[in-house]
Amino acid sequence: MRPEILYPLFADAASLKGVGERARTLLGNLLGGTKIVNLLWHLPSGLVDRRYSPKLAEAEAGRICTVTARVVEHIQPRTNKQPWRVEVEDDTDQMELIFFKAYPDSIKKALPVGSTRVLSGKTERFNGRLQMPHPDYIGKPEDWPQIAAVETVYPLTAGLSNKMLGKFMQQALTKVPPLPEWQDTAFAAQQNWPSFAEALRQAHHPQCSKDLASDSAARQRLAYDELLANQLALAIVRQRIKKQAGRSMEGNGCLRRQILQNLPFDLTSAQQTVLGEIYADQKAPFRMLRLLQGDVGSGKTIVALMAMLNAVECGAQAAIMAPTEILAKQHLETIAPMCEKIGVRVELLTGKTKGKTRTEILTALQKGKIQILIGTHALFQEDVKFKDLAFVVVDEQHRFGVHQRLSLSEKGNQADILVMTATPIPRTLVLTAYGDMEYSKLDQAPAGRKPVDTRVLPADKLSEVTAALKRKLESGCRAYWVCPLVEESEKSDLAAAEERFATLQKIFGADVGLVHGKMKEKDKDAVMERFKNGDIKLLVATTVIEVGVNVPEATLMIIEHAERFGLAQLHQLRGRIKRGFEASTCILTYVPPLSATARERLNIMRQSEDGFMIAEKDLELRGGGEILGTKQSGFAEFRLADMSMHKNLLSIANQDAKLILERDPNLQSPRGQALRTLLYLFEKDDTIRTYRS
Ligand code: ADP
Ligand code: MG
Repeated sequence: MRPEILYPLFADAASLKGVGERARTLLGNLLGGTKIVNLLWHLPSGLVDRRYSPKLAEAEAGRICTVTARVVEHIQPRTNKQPWRVEVEDDTDQMELIFFKAYPDSIKKALPVGSTRVLSGKTERFNGRLQMPHPDYIGKPEDWPQIAAVETVYPLTAGLSNKMLGKFMQQALTKVPPLPEWQDTAFAAQQNWPSFAEALRQAHHPQCSKDLASDSAARQRLAYDELLANQLALAIVRQRIKKQAGRSMEGNGCLRRQILQNLPFDLTSAQQTVLGEIYADQKAPFRMLRLLQGDVGSGKTIVALMAMLNAVECGAQAAIMAPTEILAKQHLETIAPMCEKIGVRVELLTGKTKGKTRTEILTALQKGKIQILIGTHALFQEDVKFKDLAFVVVDEQHRFGVHQRLSLSEKGNQADILVMTATPIPRTLVLTAYGDMEYSKLDQAPAGRKPVDTRVLPADKLSEVTAALKRKLESGCRAYWVCPLVEESEKSDLAAAEERFATLQKIFGADVGLVHGKMKEKDKDAVMERFKNGDIKLLVATTVIEVGVNVPEATLMIIEHAERFGLAQLHQLRGRIKRGFEASTCILTYVPPLSATARERLNIMRQSEDGFMIAEKDLELRGGGEILGTKQSGFAEFRLADMSMHKNLLSIANQDAKLILERDPNLQSPRGQALRTLLYLFEKDDTIRTYRS
């Protein structure tokens, strides 16, 4: 349970003054949540200094200034094109306020003739006269202290002004309670870090541009809090698994030998190396927890099968869990025929397995008559009982959720765990996503693979693309059409995909299907299934197709607005059409003009298919501005830490987390208790729950 002290921070933003239903929705879109903490994690991107407050005669043009002046007269425009002008003065000079497209009533109301007003905005000089077009603030004299200050600027979304967000933020900051210090006090003092509450306050009240930099004390402190919560949570999960003794598994090789003899190919040396690492883990008397990374098509399945058979040779059982029904089936289709030949029984268990079939499988499983069980989350269900589960493969594809998935191993008898991912991850990010998990890389594709022909085209060539697509479909090939990520505040990804679907339907009729992330899992699977069967030849999709489904006939992919995707994500998408022995084409379309970074990114895609290289480049090139890419790559968990700036803090947090658990494995000491609060603060509730079970 979340400690009471944090309740105010997890209250809904609707409890703030001025946050109605509309503002709440906007906040949700902007912040990814509507709790007070979501607001607080939204750090400013800039500031406007409004403290320059000259007399009118001394006001420098081109500068933001805040002045006090009397309203002299309103000069109405004679035509629509002319601005509404308001003459104001102080004892030294006059100034004109300029309003294009004015609403006369509201202007007159805000600036009654004869009243004194505080005005803040950028001044200009026009024909020798001082002007302030569209003041940012018009206030009464008593508003002076609020206006003539340093204004914090936040990243915004359409419909939500900086003024509104600033007001919400001020209120949110008052809700921050004093919290017990969870950082090592000596370390925090040595770094000159303020307390958590003070750091938040400072981060939201920058006084100069230095305060906005990622190396300011306040921002470093907050980033470190977030990183420590991340590393500690991962370390706790790992400790929990490692604490349990493992079993030493070393089969006699009889099954594996037969499999290798039946394979139409030799294992690559990368596959052999990785298998060596896995066998060594299996043999060791500890519990194995290893991450296997390798691009789509790098041959992870056979590696997983060999490792499972090692356990089966010892008389134990193995399981492989995939994130979706269709992927589980795909594993069955590759693994079952190979195992049949060597007398190993493989079954599939998903949410769809019902009735008699299910009962039979469960009985056979419990009796140990099934050696390998393939499935989805359904494997978690309580009535699924193994006789002796010793090896678990978690095929994550591109999703990250190690915490939950690891619980499958609890069904096992000290089961070893192999997590597989098709996302090549840069080293630093392995640490943030998986902590200190051991990892192996399949960094070599099987020989004889043809590269994907990748082309980069401006979007105005889309009609030519459609024509080429038509020819391709007529010749029997299948294609993906991936719709753009949409910038915030425009229409949703879904709307864009639906629109494109409608246009393409006009050309291709019933041959087109649509799949998107808002669909129910089973509807999604059904559309994918139809694409696989060829009932649909062109699949319009949002990025959900990233999760790997094999459709060998699909040899063409068109990606719209490729410049908005992260490199790693483009790479994943392209992996869907990498068939190896057939030529395939990937067309990346973009909407000009391209930034220099975007151009470089698309070039890398054209030139390389090395997932690990692309992943490193992605991290390197992902400037602060390229947020969409970050979000989509699956590592957007960090709100306060910036992986390109706070890398050094990550390794310190990693060491710190280890040390904390060595000294206080159950987080019982006073600092341990405070660290529990930190974990709750960053919503690692799942992790803390493991302490109780
Ligand atoms: P991944 O799961 O890593 O995406 P798969 O295991 O599905 O990749 O393998 C992709 C394809 O490559 C499969 O058809 C598989 O049979 C084949 N393959 C695997 N290893 C090799 C190899 N060493 N040589 C040739 N083909 C291989
Ligand atoms: Mg696979």
